[in-house]
Amino acid sequence: MHTRFLLPFAAFSICLLGGCSPDSGDQDNKPTMVGQLISGGQVFDGSGEAPFVADVGVTDGRIVFIGDADSANVASDDVIDAQGLWVAPGFIDAHSHAVLDEDYGRDAIPYLRQGITTVVLGLDGDGTSDTAVRLGSWQEKGIGVNGIHFVGHGYIREAVMGRENREPTDVELADMRAHVRKAMDEGAFGLSTGLFYVPGTYASTEEVIALAKAAAEYEGAIYDTHDRDLGAVYQGIGYEASVEEGIRITEESGLRGIFSHYNLQGAHNYGRADVGAALINDARERGVDIWAAHHPYTATQSNLRSYTIPDWASAGGDEEMVARFDDPEMSDEITDATNAMLEIRGGADKIMLVDPRPDLNGKTLADVAGERELSPAETVRWILRDGNAVVMNLELYDHNNTRRLAQEPWMMTCTDGRTPRPDQPITHPRTFGAFPKKMRHFVFEEELLAPEFMIRSFSGLAADFYRLPDRGYLRDGYVADIVVIDPDRYRDKATFENPRQLSEGVVHALVNGRFAIRNGETTGTLAGVPLRRPQAESY
Ligand SMILES: [Zn+2]
Repeated sequence: MHTRFLLPFAAFSICLLGGCSPDSGDQDNKPTMVGQLISGGQVFDGSGEAPFVADVGVTDGRIVFIGDADSANVASDDVIDAQGLWVAPGFIDAHSHAVLDEDYGRDAIPYLRQGITTVVLGLDGDGTSDTAVRLGSWQEKGIGVNGIHFVGHGYIREAVMGRENREPTDVELADMRAHVRKAMDEGAFGLSTGLFYVPGTYASTEEVIALAKAAAEYEGAIYDTHDRDLGAVYQGIGYEASVEEGIRITEESGLRGIFSHYNLQGAHNYGRADVGAALINDARERGVDIWAAHHPYTATQSNLRSYTIPDWASAGGDEEMVARFDDPEMSDEITDATNAMLEIRGGADKIMLVDPRPDLNGKTLADVAGERELSPAETVRWILRDGNAVVMNLELYDHNNTRRLAQEPWMMTCTDGRTPRPDQPITHPRTFGAFPKKMRHFVFEEELLAPEFMIRSFSGLAADFYRLPDRGYLRDGYVADIVVIDPDRYRDKATFENPRQLSEGVVHALVNGRFAIRNGETTGTLAGVPLRRPQAESY
């Protein structure tokens, strides 16, 4: 067996981490015992280097050995045969909507089944500033994967100003900055924005920079942005200007930046991925610390109001919006805008309702309009009178763009997937299949990327970006977030027609050294922990 590390180093590590005692040394041939030994797998260590065959030993939640166990005289009472399987660091979902806060999503099984052991939450501007409360609840009630939290600009703006479409006063801005500092003090990794959404969209670039500078007072802090305009925005600023805004906020605030679900939207942007790649590469060349993450689907998931109602008509809250629907003059104006917005998004048959409401779930906007004998714009308003609805926009992304961007060394991977409610049969398949689908397309089918490159984009790359000091790699002393995958079976099953299908091929998943999946079965163990920003005092 090929041995990656020098044996004395491995043996030393075991002793260093408390695994050896005076009478278990090599002299009397008694083996050094580890808790679990994952034996003979192809080890992808997260660095992007070619895999190597090795045994991986785990004791008390940490990796304590990587090498040839026989020649190092390392043994275990719990040996996991990984011959023919891939052994990799647990995957990091860099933009997630895993619902760890509710009982129905706490176990994170759709994510674990893809090999994900850490999810990044609080994005699109939504994250609460009560970081300690959220992390404390995860700790107390248990979570199936590790959770990272961002504080959201939209959340803060709504808390301080409601949904008002205006500039903040100096007092309000100071209040918002205080929210950011509180969240960062309590362990948030950074500030997220959803500049596409109400109320984030009402903010100027300068307002965001002012808040981002408050986050930048904290070492290692990150700016995570859902851009203002990914290309399919009615009366928007356009794709390029939107990305440039994200880069400017990152650069002027001094934060490190990540573009959420980085891709170009709309048929007019098909085949323009070079433009998207160049914007980031040019910024990086002049020293801006800017990265991105994406998923491999061509559909988005968002909400009906954001996709079909102009920002001015949503201002002030739902009651004010409905009053505008009922105002004959404004109603005509909203209808024109809705029609224009639907056209940019490919038409009413490309908007699929995935809301839990049974009379909507799984139907396109065109279907519902047909059923009710209403125009699409009337149908939108009929639905929104009962509250906002979850929708997908089919075919908004171009697979060729995704393929082009997947090759960039700064591109991480995300699901952007929300755990569906139990009563929500049709939902976006990305929650269940984003990671194996990306692997399937670009490694197994198109053979465009090496598996070690893909696994790095799933693990070590994200660990570098989030500056996790002891995760994302298979290395001596690192936390044992480990997945063992059967490459012949690692596949997404979820489709748009039948989305609630778990991915296959994750044979074992250890989270903090405990089995969440063993021999292909979920164990029910809630082994995840809340992660605080590594530079936070309480880490
Ligand atoms: Zn999102």
